[in-house]
Amino acid sequence: MVSSAFRTVRSEEIFGAARDLMPGGVSSPVRAFKSVGGQPIVFDHVKGAYAYDVDGNQYIDYVGTWGPAIVGHAHPEVLGALHQALDKGTSFGAPCLQENILARMVIEAVPSIEMVRFVNSGTEACMSVLRLMRAFTGRDKIIKFSGCYHGHADMFLVQAGSGVATLGLPDSPGVPKTTTANTLTATYNDLEAVKALFEQNPNEIAGVILEPVVGNAGFIVPEAGFLAGLRELTREHNALLVFDEVMTGFRLAYGGAQQRFGITPDLTTLGKIIGGGLPVGAYGGRRDIMEMVAPAGPMYQAGTLSGNPLAMTAGIKTLEILNRPGTYEQLEKITKKLADGLVQVAHETGHAACGGQLGAMFGLFFTEGPVHSYEDAKRCDLAKFSRFHRGMLEQGIYLAPSQFEAGFTSLAHTDEDVERTLEAARAVLAKL
Ligand SMILES: *Cc1c(COP(=O)(O)O)cnc(C)c1O
Repeated sequence: MVSSAFRTVRSEEIFGAARDLMPGGVSSPVRAFKSVGGQPIVFDHVKGAYAYDVDGNQYIDYVGTWGPAIVGHAHPEVLGALHQALDKGTSFGAPCLQENILARMVIEAVPSIEMVRFVNSGTEACMSVLRLMRAFTGRDKIIKFSGCYHGHADMFLVQAGSGVATLGLPDSPGVPKTTTANTLTATYNDLEAVKALFEQNPNEIAGVILEPVVGNAGFIVPEAGFLAGLRELTREHNALLVFDEVMTGFRLAYGGAQQRFGITPDLTTLGKIIGGGLPVGAYGGRRDIMEMVAPAGPMYQAGTLSGNPLAMTAGIKTLEILNRPGTYEQLEKITKKLADGLVQVAHETGHAACGGQLGAMFGLFFTEGPVHSYEDAKRCDLAKFSRFHRGMLEQGIYLAPSQFEAGFTSLAHTDEDVERTLEAARAVLAKL
């Protein structure tokens, strides 16, 4: 552990140079630590449950490259499969057998998916699924929820979560009003608001898209009846229900949130885990809808690197490991111990806190709670979170640098890692 010898000289040097080369010094905003203050840490390598920075500090990593690392970083079996695939070439721009294998695995795992299209990111998956929702229904309007993040495509940058929430940005400049005029927003867990939107826009709403469990406004679970209510409402209005499972897919259960809650959407987006650390996204669902996608149907969507054998191989091996007996029981157990432990330690050290966990995903908010929506999440003590984050970092615990992000565990995290984390949390919280 690093507590007494925490040095970040090299990180500061490298990030200092990066700021001159790239906007904010990063390739994706949240990485810059802007909301928690202080300099971000520059990683050198990752292995199992750990990340190692350029100054030689070791961290127990609860970000897991924002989700993909669920079997642990640099898993030997995933690396082995990648080494083999690499020798055959990285991209074909032609069909490859690996696409069939991963497609079949996704279709067998995720209840709503009968057919799937691979893309290169979650953003691309969500952007494409939106086009498909509109193409299939012949309607332009969609309903999303404040605090839910569906990637950075124009139409979704309305009260978005993740980095948009973290940086407190208004809806982004550069997004034409006409593009978002058809994006209607409701409060998460507020079924009545969704009902009202359907009534105010008869026969105009293509569908509802949501994170079935929210991870981009902190960790927020659906209240009893919310998902089922959305399923009913969308059916009633001939609209589509779309689960954005880019984060929750293969994380809450092998079949994602839809399996866990027993609610089957019409379409689903995936990303993160299904690429095993390489860039992959996917959207899939009912066969009659998916057959609208080119070249089977008229809705255009394409990608030079989509379905490349290298990325498919990392996804296949990752899902194969996840599908072994006992994996989700192990993830559930370790994550529950951590999430419960964090809330308990916070209470014992005199802090208002609430949190939760499902599968390998967890959250901790510095507020009495309960937190049912982004609106509730915004009431938590952000300044306290920042100090907690920095304290934990110095103790060798790497948490997402924002109160508005969920935490992730992996098969590589051990009981001992969790115990070390809780000890660190106690030390940090006692001094806050
Ligand atoms: C991460 C995420 C996205 C965007 O995926 P990228 O691969 O970062 O483009 C979309 N939706 C959800 C729910 C996500 O968590």
